[in-house]
Amino acid sequence: MRQHGLVVDDRASRPRRNTRPRDALGQPMPYGTAGVDEQPAGVLRNSHESLVEADRLLRSGRPFHAHEVLEDAWKSGPEAERELWRGLAQLAVGMTHAARGNPVGAARLIERGALGIAPFEDESPHGLDIPAILGWCAQVRAELAQISYILQGSVTARRIPCGKLACACTTDVEAWHGPYIQWSRRKGGRTVSTYLTPEQAVLCREWIANYRTLDKLIDRMLKLSLRMVRFHEIPKL
Ligand SMILES: [Zn+2]
Repeated sequence: MRQHGLVVDDRASRPRRNTRPRDALGQPMPYGTAGVDEQPAGVLRNSHESLVEADRLLRSGRPFHAHEVLEDAWKSGPEAERELWRGLAQLAVGMTHAARGNPVGAARLIERGALGIAPFEDESPHGLDIPAILGWCAQVRAELAQISYILQGSVTARRIPCGKLACACTTDVEAWHGPYIQWSRRKGGRTVSTYLTPEQAVLCREWIANYRTLDKLIDRMLKLSLRMVRFHEIPKL
């Protein structure tokens, strides 16, 4: 099917992917909206091309699309390498879960992916540095395990005047009421606030800190991506 330098798109012979538009993380968007251009399904790439493309997509914050590329390689590759490509695809799905704010799902898929690629540790085919990737998996899983609930937004405590003329707060700042604790976050283009009890505020602050930790972790995950592999040293076929 694939001649040197020639990519054959045999999309017609494969089941079509869902044509619904998707965002950068592969989440379905309403029909008729402009989604992120999807990866054409069933493009045949050699191993080098698959790895380069998956790496590029991971580093540009599109782990879902990287997973599609790796999945194509898994489905079209030689039988002996199925588990390798499936494992790499699972790692990309793990990163997708993390980026969608699901640390538990992320840890599970990264564990599964690591199990899939582990048997290739000695061989490290296609210039992949499997031991380095496994080390990365273990580190990321340990960090994900520290994150339970996540929450976006911020928590603020404010004292406010009530506005009643008879109240001392109209003339004395010291008599302002509160503090009232609020959790504020962006929702549908505007800021929404909810009052919290002091106990809720403690949890909210913790979960928001978790969100920031996850956000930084995702950033590192995507930047590390497959760059630890040595495939760039492989001459292009
Ligand atoms: Zn008052």
